[in-house]
Amino acid sequence: SPTTMPPNTHDFPGKSPHVALFPGAGMGHLTPFLRLAAMLSSRGCLVTLITVKPTVSVAESTHISTFFSTYPHINRLDFEILPCNPPNSTNTDPFFIQFEAISRSVHLLKPLLLSSSPPLSAIFSDFAGSVTVTPLAEHLSIPSYVVSTTSARFASLLSYLPFLFSENSAKFGGSDNDVQIPGLSPLPLSTIPPPFFNPTLFFTSFAISNAQILPKAKGILLNTFDRFEPDTIAALNNGSVLSSLPPVLPIGPFEPYEFKKGDYLSWVDDQSVGSVVYVSFGSRTAMSKDQIRELGDGLERSGCPFLWVLKSSKVDKEDNEEIEDLLGNSFLERTKNRGIIVKGWVNQEQILAHPAIGGFISHCGWNSVMEAARHGVPVLAWPLHGDQRVNAEVVENAELGVWVRDWGWGQGWGGEKVVKGEEIGEKVREMMSDEKLRNKAMEVGEEARKAGQDANGSSVKALMGIIETLRLA
Ligand code: UDP
Ligand code: UDP
Ligand code: UDP
Repeated sequence: SPTTMPPNTHDFPGKSPHVALFPGAGMGHLTPFLRLAAMLSSRGCLVTLITVKPTVSVAESTHISTFFSTYPHINRLDFEILPCNPPNSTNTDPFFIQFEAISRSVHLLKPLLLSSSPPLSAIFSDFAGSVTVTPLAEHLSIPSYVVSTTSARFASLLSYLPFLFSENSAKFGGSDNDVQIPGLSPLPLSTIPPPFFNPTLFFTSFAISNAQILPKAKGILLNTFDRFEPDTIAALNNGSVLSSLPPVLPIGPFEPYEFKKGDYLSWVDDQSVGSVVYVSFGSRTAMSKDQIRELGDGLERSGCPFLWVLKSSKVDKEDNEEIEDLLGNSFLERTKNRGIIVKGWVNQEQILAHPAIGGFISHCGWNSVMEAARHGVPVLAWPLHGDQRVNAEVVENAELGVWVRDWGWGQGWGGEKVVKGEEIGEKVREMMSDEKLRNKAMEVGEEARKAGQDANGSSVKALMGIIETLRLA
């Protein structure tokens, strides 16, 4: 279990490396950084977490406060950013607007980093902040590492993105139905985020700039493990994808940090082993109202007990709609003994760790995938945006889950097609009764445990190797 006590320095002889962590915007970026902060701290590092103010979501500011009260020996470095409203921007996503604001405020970060004491041994920055942080770290002669919060496969696509545009744009969206990246199995065009076909969009140009800076980093840390994505990790490390990349170090699944128990868990406690389907689309993805109703219908038809985290808007502080208004009272009446619907934050890692959970309908945000892997919970993949389709493919290949490819509602990916309750119910029933899948998922869980917990585990060795490098530097 995670330790919240400061490490006993006798266990780690020699100098303690001082690592600054710089997370990107959104819970999907913050969570892995908080986890990494706790992991490094419990292994003899001094840790400074850079916290951008203000945050986009309430969830981020709440988690940051709770984290620092639980880990008082981790330093907090507040970075107040300037508001950012560039005219004619193609950037409309609040989380990406935040990334842009961070870039524009980077000059304010320099004095903060310079005054860190003891001097920093390294900065670990989010992939989506590397264009900002890596040049600054270089200027200050601080080694920098990039932390990828996505799959090795999507990280490969991001790294290779500049070449897909520059060399031969026909590679991208040409007659071929696949995108070819050296060393990787072809990526079906249908898994590529639609904005990637347009390099003038902020989302895409920003990704390209981040990718171009990667060769300057000392290493790329991945929240994945060797046995989950063996071929991709090998291709990244043997120079097949790009010869210019630094070492790629899989150190996942990241360990959860200390947290408190949610109320809904007493209901889960009363359910039988492997019976409950858990439903969540992450921290920043809202379903359309029609799709919410069909999903409700599907869960009801499946006959399985369910725990459903319902979001109806992208940023949590705008999520004001009542469950009754979204689903109707008769639905709630009919399902009141069979399901729980939560609006607001749940402790997902704790839910997935519960023996009653037998399946997970997931958007395949990468943190969710790693959490499912860590607990060996079968996934019914329903990817929607960004990296999620590529991640869903990884889930399927690793035999952690199944993916119904024509389920949509992601913009630009089959439009706003609404998946009907009947079909959802059928697939949920299928997943929940699939013995073979359940066993495979358990095997994945066992592999994840070995990688992250055994002294000789691949992720443990990679992480200790990085810390040792910093200690000796
Ligand atoms: N999460 C959670 N409770 C919630 C919603 C999300 O604990 O109510 C966590 C989830 O466990 C994961 C992260 O928030 O660690 C979301 O990241 P992910 O990559 O899965 O998806 P994103 O939110 O970035 O789309
Ligand atoms: N996006 C989102 N949730 C995510 C990832 C992305 O809402 O977890 C949004 C975000 O605005 C991002 C855009 O989707 O800039 C890119 O996703 P997509 O590939 O679906 O393209 P779209 O057609 O929606 O622009
Ligand atoms: N990403 C990036 N630069 C970008 C866009 C995305 O580095 O301009 C990375 C980011 O680190 C994230 C992944 O691509 O882990 C998927 O991005 P997406 O927008 O789908 O999801 P998010 O995690 O932001 O919700």
